[in-house]
Amino acid sequence: MSSKDWIEKDFYATLGVEKSASSDEIKKSYRKLARESHPDHNPGDPLAEERFKGVSEAYAVLGDDTKRREYDEMRSLFGSGAFRRGARGTGQPGGAPFDVSDLFGGGGGDTRFGGGGFTDLFSSIFSGGGAGGAGPTRARGPARGRDVETEVALDFGDAVRGVTLPLTLRAPGVCDTCHGNGAKPGTQPTACPVCHGAGVTTRDQGSFSFSEPCRNCQGVGTVVEEKCPECHGTGGVTKTRTLNVRFPAGVADGQRIRLAGRGEPGQRGGPAGDLFVQVKVRPDDLFGRTGDDLTLAVPITFAEAVLGVDLRVPTLDGAVTLRVPPGTPSGRVLRARGKGVVRRDGQAGDLLVTLDVVVPATVSDEARAALESFAGATPPAAREHLDARVRRVG
Ligand SMILES: [Zn+2]
Ligand SMILES: [Zn+2]
Repeated sequence: MSSKDWIEKDFYATLGVEKSASSDEIKKSYRKLARESHPDHNPGDPLAEERFKGVSEAYAVLGDDTKRREYDEMRSLFGSGAFRRGARGTGQPGGAPFDVSDLFGGGGGDTRFGGGGFTDLFSSIFSGGGAGGAGPTRARGPARGRDVETEVALDFGDAVRGVTLPLTLRAPGVCDTCHGNGAKPGTQPTACPVCHGAGVTTRDQGSFSFSEPCRNCQGVGTVVEEKCPECHGTGGVTKTRTLNVRFPAGVADGQRIRLAGRGEPGQRGGPAGDLFVQVKVRPDDLFGRTGDDLTLAVPITFAEAVLGVDLRVPTLDGAVTLRVPPGTPSGRVLRARGKGVVRRDGQAGDLLVTLDVVVPATVSDEARAALESFAGATPPAAREHLDARVRRVG
């Protein structure tokens, strides 16, 4: 991304909000646009992907009050023409061409930027946005590695008990054959003939003059004559690495686990990005889960509900006996304490057993006779309050 790009980017327009929008409005608009343009919903649509990147980039700034303030300030400075040619008073006739990278590189002509606020701001925003691998890049300072997103499916029981799983990630890394310079071993990159090794070229545009990364060498300042056979001159290769990730007991479906510093390595001494693991929990055929409680449905007969019974029911790791007292209605929930998710701090959920009185579709002659005798010995169900209403409507 050239300096010019980000000066001209209108993050407000990207998110479709007014400059005066509240942070809530910004968040809302971002969520909507991110959902609409998300690559998962638009597979193979490069336009949507571009839009998604743009929206994410805009929200990285406007969604953060501090960054938003700095961005607003920077844009108002540009709008007022403060950086026009010669404005920095270099003393040369006509002034020196304005070079944005000077401003933010901490070179220190203008004390306004002495604090390095903008350097921090823009290096942190844009280090994650670029395409391409870990090879040479345009920025010269340390760059934070990119965050990595991945998804893991856990078995129901593993999610309840907690589990450590090896996770294999493929990510760009520096080529070991050429150590990232892209040149065939035994040869060296040579200075770029276009920019003479500077990595940037200067272009006039109206009263502005912009430095931008040299197109011939992509801003590296060097070119490779004999390419490294391993990475074909890019300096980067796809590397596979395996991490052991511990999922704590009680991890939930849809939860996102952040592993700080386990994303892509940083460049030129920058810190590594983070790894985000999105958890999917496969359903179990017996148990369900609500928070830290496990749930189980147990069918019982009408006789068991009336007379009471001791039930032996499974837990996730064993079995437990539950007493159903005489006269228990259908739908009653029994609780087996501590038989749910057991957290590391010892806090435990319960197993909630829902009793489901089953009505047989057919009965034997013997059972029918017994039921008829039961019906004769039992008062009718209390339906008087309903009968009154039935009479009223005719
Ligand atoms: Zn060049
Ligand atoms: Zn290589």
